[in-house]
Parts: sequence; structure tokens; C-alpha cells
Amino acid sequence: MIINKPLIKLCSLALLFSFTLTLPAGAIDNKPLLGFTRDGAIRQREMETRFDSLLKKENLREWMKRLAARPHHLGSAYGKENAEFIASQFRSWGYETEIEQFDVLFPTPKTRLLEMTAPEKFTARLAEPALKEDSTSNQASEQLPIYNAYSIDGDVTAQLVYVNYGVPKDYDALAERGIDVKGKIVIARYGGSWRGIKPKVAAEHGAVGCLIYSDPRDDGYFQGDVYPKGAWRNENGAQRGSVADMPLFPGDPLTPGIGATKDAKRLALKDAPTLTKIPVMPISYADALPLLRSLAGPMAPEDWRGALPISYHLGPGPAIVHLKLEFDWKTVPCYNVIAKIRGSERPDEWIIRGNHHDAWVNGADDPISGLVAEMEEARAIGELMKSGWKPKRTIVYAAWDGEEPGLLGSTEWVEAHADLLKRNAAVYINSDTNGRGFLGVGGSHTLEKFINEVGRDVTDPQTKVSVLERIRALRIVRGSTDDKREARERADLRISALGSGSDYSPFIQHLGIASLNIGYGGEDGGGSYHSVYDSFDHYTRFGDPNFDYGIALAQTGGRIVLRLANADVLPLVFGNFADAVERYVREVAKLTDDMREETRQKNRQINERSLWIIADPTEVYVAPKAEAPVPHLNFAPLQNSLARLQESARSFDGVMNEAAASGRALPLEAQKSLDGILIQTERAMTREQGLPRRSWYKHQIYAPGFYTGYGVKTLPGVREAIEQRNWKEASEQVNIIAETIDRLTAEIDRATKIARQSPRN
Ligand SMILES: [Zn+2]
Repeated sequence: MIINKPLIKLCSLALLFSFTLTLPAGAIDNKPLLGFTRDGAIRQREMETRFDSLLKKENLREWMKRLAARPHHLGSAYGKENAEFIASQFRSWGYETEIEQFDVLFPTPKTRLLEMTAPEKFTARLAEPALKEDSTSNQASEQLPIYNAYSIDGDVTAQLVYVNYGVPKDYDALAERGIDVKGKIVIARYGGSWRGIKPKVAAEHGAVGCLIYSDPRDDGYFQGDVYPKGAWRNENGAQRGSVADMPLFPGDPLTPGIGATKDAKRLALKDAPTLTKIPVMPISYADALPLLRSLAGPMAPEDWRGALPISYHLGPGPAIVHLKLEFDWKTVPCYNVIAKIRGSERPDEWIIRGNHHDAWVNGADDPISGLVAEMEEARAIGELMKSGWKPKRTIVYAAWDGEEPGLLGSTEWVEAHADLLKRNAAVYINSDTNGRGFLGVGGSHTLEKFINEVGRDVTDPQTKVSVLERIRALRIVRGSTDDKREARERADLRISALGSGSDYSPFIQHLGIASLNIGYGGEDGGGSYHSVYDSFDHYTRFGDPNFDYGIALAQTGGRIVLRLANADVLPLVFGNFADAVERYVREVAKLTDDMREETRQKNRQINERSLWIIADPTEVYVAPKAEAPVPHLNFAPLQNSLARLQESARSFDGVMNEAAASGRALPLEAQKSLDGILIQTERAMTREQGLPRRSWYKHQIYAPGFYTGYGVKTLPGVREAIEQRNWKEASEQVNIIAETIDRLTAEIDRATKIARQSPRN
């Protein structure tokens, strides 16, 4: 799946960097490191310099060539071969390695038919042709065809309606124009949300079928030259992908909340809640063009118009479409590779690093670009072990299977080992796709200062300044007014909160394990996503030709793992977290104020427009119903718990800063009990009952939106209740989140007590 990646031209940045160059190569920086004494930090950096010297680009290139040589989707022969190859590599590097199997539902197509029956006949091609310029694009017999996994079977014929991205507000705009999709087939363009939201919302509005196409404005010739000349998606390129209702729960649809082991109790297929309610099919813009061209009715609003050579109309019809889909609903083996180095001092504290290995087709960018960086990290750490070093904490490297259909491998593993992980898992670090450009980081804000420290110590291969400074410059040049100011003034660069879209979700949102999601990008061409053209040839031309950023990711991930595995105390800082929560509390309060004003305006406008309509019969306008005014909610419980959190965070961070300044470490037993509490702080942010209507999501601060799927909703319980105008629930959630924050604050106070009372060595 995708990681949010920034885009920017290089030239203006060069100017900015001239006065922020990093230390000459080889010089050891003796800046303090969170969680280490002064001497410990110097030793740690010496180890990292050795680690860097061990990294080899050619390994990444060679492994990518091999791992992406044939289609390796979940359940495929080459997917199994890849898992065995990866495991054999880890074993050879000295890791305790196993392949853990789960058995998951994974439908593949038996019948796919899409045709237009009126006003003219057209049968969609539904295939991506081989290209002579791409040496692995001609493997049709092994490739998964273009489809949306977890779409139900269906055979529907109906008029077509264009619904833009097909998110809830698009249907409000259609309703305003008197267009109802009941009994219709809708066509939506990719983008704007997780693709599973499109058939979900279409079904909620009564549609009987859903098509999703890649519009060239977002993903084709409007962005740049198309493949094979350029990187961007050509007319026959199509985006496969899961449409499971992941905001309900990810993972195997038949075993919600439990690991899909052989003997696990499974739901009946008909009761599986994350399958779509209507048949859905992805298509290329070559297949979408005749359909969209055959729509009449009102013109689409300007910001709904893409880059196809047509006038975009909404319909309904006259295009009539017939969609027939049948799937082979089989259960297939899912192979996770799990490789461990047992910690010498705290074996029950786990630092877990993961990247998926399955793809939709050859998957050079998604996921192999990230996986090969993770493997090279692990190989170099294996080399360090050979020289006698052992990490304090246990290091676990994972290569997940089944991520593409819905985070299956990681979710089943997390569910199967939930009790053990709740006890032992300290931090999870995820990566997925990787390419040239800027470091993108999302994660738990208790790790924000830590990851800023890591970003300061990794050099950007193009500009030779730190990757942290490159992001800072990007925000100064391209950010919002707020971003610019913060990038100039705030010591730490903010990291983004995690929604969903990759394998971190079960760790942070189901078990409350502090997590990070990392990856480079923003200067690599797009266009190959989930297509047969996501190949070694495409990636080595447009992604990261020299694997410079593969090495940058290995340096970043490697530093994170080594520092977390070696630190005297886990480097969590609560001030940054409290600062993030303060922002979220301000946002939800402002949200109600904005909605109150908006509703007042809208009701007044409806009233005025109604009067005006009588005057002008030409305008097709259906007056929406006036909305009930937005009440004032009592946010005091939340604001008070926030104030307590800020106070406790200040105390804890203060005590830890003093300890660092003293240069002396806490006694080992105090370090261990402090870790024990710190590990549980992210757990304290969860609630067993989970979020309203989706108990799998336990985290009360971060969750993917119910109607975004990818995009994060912070303080989701109260924010989504407000968005849905569910005022009673909003008030309940204010109290629930306040209690959650108080629970966390109590843990922080416990940690402060230990840190303050223990003598220093
Ligand atoms: Zn991926």
C-alpha cells in the first residue's frame, strides 16, 4: 500500500542547505543521544559508523532482481519461494528464523466481464499488455488479473453515474443536483480515500455496482510521460487492490480479532462483514473512456473533471453497463518470515521491524524496495553480531505476507500472539515502498524526538546534508504558513499521526504498541502502483536507480533498531506527545465551532435559495433539508486531563534530562522497571471496548477514519462523532478520551517516581 510522500524540485533546496552541512564523513558526533549516557552515546555512534560501512548497494539490487523476477502475490508459488529465500538469508546471518503460516481467505477471479450495452456496444479489455521495454511484463500466466480483492460476486446491469472520488461529500453534491444512485452502477476515480470506501459509500446510497478507474489527471499523462517512455501510468495500466472494509477491521475477513491458524473458528463467508456489499471492479482509463464519454445529464462540477479528452457529465446514462464478477473464494497459506536475535540483558523487551514481501504482481517498488533495505539492515546487524556484539533487547525482523489484500500476515500474527506482544513488544518499526526523495515518518508521538535525532544523523545521498534538514527545508519552501513557522522555530519536526495503509496498523491500533512508519520518496515517478509495470525495469529507471535511498532507508531503519536495542532506557519523550494531543483537542473544539457557523450559513442560504428558485425554473436545484443547529459541547474534561498530562510530561522529561546531563546511568533494575512502565504507556492509550461500532480499533488517540480508510482521525471517538453530528456520542467520547489520557498520565507519574528516586551509577 501507500506511504504519504512529499513532492519538490531540488534546485531551490540546494540554496537553502549551503549553511547546514553535516560533519565530515567518519567524524564521530558526540551530541547526546536519548536513552544513553554520554559514553554510551559515543560507543553507539562508533557502532553506527561501522554499521554504515557494512552496507552494500549491490545486495539491494541483486535481491530486488530476484524477488521481483516473477509475480509473487499471496498464495503464489513464487511468493512461497521468496519467503523461503528470505528465511534462508536471515538464517545465514545468524538469526533464529522461522516461517509462520496462517490460512487466510483470498478470492481470485474466475469471471470478469464489463461491457457497455447502450448507447453503443463496448467490451472492456481488463488487461495490461506486455511491453517489450519491460522484461517481466509478459508473465501473464502467473500474473493476478486486474481486480479488487474481497469484492462480492455479482451480475448487474444498470445506468452509469459518475461520482468523482465517491466519498460521502460527493454524494451530497449529487443529491443537491437531484441525482440519486439507487439501482445505478457508479464509476469513481481513484484517489481521495482508501479504495474500499468507494463501494462502501456507493452501497450505502443504494448503488448496485461500482467501477474504480485511474484518471490521468491524478495518475497518468497529466502528471508526466507515461510508461514506458516515462514513469506515469499509461492508458492500459490499472490499479489492483483490496476493497475490504478495513476501517472495520483489517486482516483475514473470516477470523476478526483471532489469528487465522488452522484450527481457528471461522465465520461463514456470508457473515464476513468486511466483504463489499456490491460488486466492484478497477479499470484503466482506456476502458473508462467510452463509458464516461457516453454520459449525459449535468456537467460535473469543475473540480470533479479529470484529464480525459471529454466533457465530464454526471449521468445517469445514457450509458448502460453490465458488470459480471465471479471469484474463487479459497483459503490460502500466508507465510510470514520471523527472524530473532535474543537480547542479552532484556530478552523480554522486543524491538520489532517489519516490511511486507507479497505483491499484487512483481512489486519491485511495492514492497520490495523497502524489503531489500530492511534485509540489508539485518545483514549488517548480523555482521556486528559476528564481532561479539549482542543487543540488550531482543530484535525481531519480519517479512509479512498478505499485506496487499488487507494487512493479513501482520494482523494474524499480532492477533495470534496478542498476549505475548502486549507483555514484550516495546516498539514496532514499519516500512513499505521506498524511493528517491524525502524521509516520510508517521508514528507514535512519544517517539517524535527520538526519530528527529535519528534523522539528524543520516545523510541525504543527493545533497549531503542530513535528511532531517532536507525535510525542514521542504516545509519552509512548500509548507503551509503554520508548517513554515514551525519548521523555522520548533526544535523537533512534527511527525504525522498514523491512520492505516500498511502493517503498522495492528501493532499500534489493535494492541497499543508504540510504532513508527518510515520511507523515502517524493522525487520518484509514480504510475506503477499495483500494476504489472511495477517491475525491476520500471524501478531502476524511475524509482531509485542507484539504490542510494535504499541505503538511506537501511541507515535510518538500522539506527532506529540499534538505538532502541542498546539504549539504557527506552527513549520515549512525553512532551512531544502532549503537544500533539493539545493540537488535536484544539482542533475538535474548533471543528464544532466551524460546523456551527457553517450550519447557520447553510440554513440561511437554503432559505434564501428556496425563495430564489421560484424565480428561475431553469436551475436544477433540490434544496437540501435545513440542519439542526450545532450544540455547544463541554470539552472541559478533555482540557483538564490534557493539562494534567502536560504537567506530568514536563516532570518526566525534566527528570530524564537531568539524568542525561549527569552523564550517569540509572541502576540496571531501575532501568528495567522504567522500561516496563514506558512500554505500557502506549497500551494505556487503548481501551478494551475499542471505538464505537469498531471494537478492533482499541487506540483512542489514532485510528484510520471510518470513511477515509487511509487518512488518520486523531481523537477518533469524539472527532468522528462530531463529524457525524452524533452529539450524545460526542459527549460520551469526550469523557472516555479524558479517562484514557488520565490513565496514561498515571503511568507517566509512576515512571517519573522511579527515575527521580533511583541513585545514579
Ligand atoms: Zn505495500
